Amino acid sequence: MPANDRLLPPDEALDIILDHVRILEAEVVSLDEAGGRVLSEDLVADRDLPPFAASTMDGFAVIASDVSPWREVIGDQFAGTMEGIEITPGTSARIMTGAPLPEGADAVIRVENTEMRDDHVIIHQEHVEEGENIRPIGSDLRKGDVLVSIGTIIGPAEIGLLASLGHASVSVYRRPRVSILSTGDELVPPEVEPGPGQIRDSNRFSLMVAARQAGADVIWSGHAPDDEPSLRALLLERIKDGDAVITSGGVSMGDKDYVKAILMEIADVHFQRLFMKPGKPFNFATIGDTLFFGLPGNPVSALVGFEIFIKSAIRAMAGHPNPRPPQATATLEHDVDSTDRLEYQRGVVWSDATGALHARNTGSQSSARLMSLVGANAFIMIQPREAPYRKGERVPVVILGTVTDQPPA
Ligand code: AMP
Ligand code: MG
Repeated sequence: MPANDRLLPPDEALDIILDHVRILEAEVVSLDEAGGRVLSEDLVADRDLPPFAASTMDGFAVIASDVSPWREVIGDQFAGTMEGIEITPGTSARIMTGAPLPEGADAVIRVENTEMRDDHVIIHQEHVEEGENIRPIGSDLRKGDVLVSIGTIIGPAEIGLLASLGHASVSVYRRPRVSILSTGDELVPPEVEPGPGQIRDSNRFSLMVAARQAGADVIWSGHAPDDEPSLRALLLERIKDGDAVITSGGVSMGDKDYVKAILMEIADVHFQRLFMKPGKPFNFATIGDTLFFGLPGNPVSALVGFEIFIKSAIRAMAGHPNPRPPQATATLEHDVDSTDRLEYQRGVVWSDATGALHARNTGSQSSARLMSLVGANAFIMIQPREAPYRKGERVPVVILGTVTDQPPA
């Protein structure tokens, strides 16, 4: 446990978290559930693809060296059947794209270069190359080739390969199972009209969606009052079940901020405070194999902490080879005040006609102002320094969503 008063730089904090992540075990899922999951074994071709020589054109299957001025058309070869046609010198067969090449043929002449006359075809093409317009056996892939390696995120192309090789299911890493707990006596559910001093619990719902989008299964969510015995009992119960527990609130310096103290008692606490803004209080602890993330209660602080640290941990648990948040560099489109801690300003990043990135923040950056995250697709990273930042400076950004090609309205 590092000294309690040290503010840990976020990149060191993320290293510590990822050092404590273990990749979850594998499970077999059907193809239509495999999108976005991470392959847990190499996928090897069990046959050649295509398994037969196929035409890439609509046209006529011929023998390339045949010099006959016209050919008798002895049949039609469609995709999906094998007609048993045999091409000999002086003959040809009509053939469709994707259809297997008939016996004896070694080239296909595209229909545009031919002319049908009764039962024969005239070829208007001077030279026919052997193999012309034919996709040979095994030209896409060879039996034994590693098609997709372990650790690949499965997308449409990978699903297509799996299907074409006859895999109705695939082995992927299990999704992390997480619990989400809001703490605070002041919180009421969204359907309740808040009384004096009460507010609605927004973090529970934000964090549930964020966790699911990151690839986790939310197995439980709920609320706990600021009461030490009941909070301790609930935390112990949640820690027993699942891979990670995420709480919000109760980690600051207030008299009823019990999460920190309970963790010190029941868990291995790795850090509690970060050199960042918003989100300075952030507890990371482990209890056996279970990861514990104690986020601050301010809705913006909670979501920033989630995006930078917890999302990366969820992705790492689910086998992503590159779980950290993606970064780029953008040009600041306005001045920004200096900061004494690494500040994650919520902003919009867009690309101009040359492909260069620009960044603008979303207005007031108060950590209680959830509106600062609405419509944001990036965090603009403002490093601590004396001088204010000027419009036109290049700054690092964390990309959270789709980068647009237009500045925000
Ligand atoms: P705390 O970290 O518990 O001191 O909370 C910091 C601030 O965030 C306080 O203003 C809380 O009322 C607010 N807050 C805490 N939990 C939530 C929540 N689940 N939803 C919305 N606001 C919250
Ligand atoms: Mg609280």
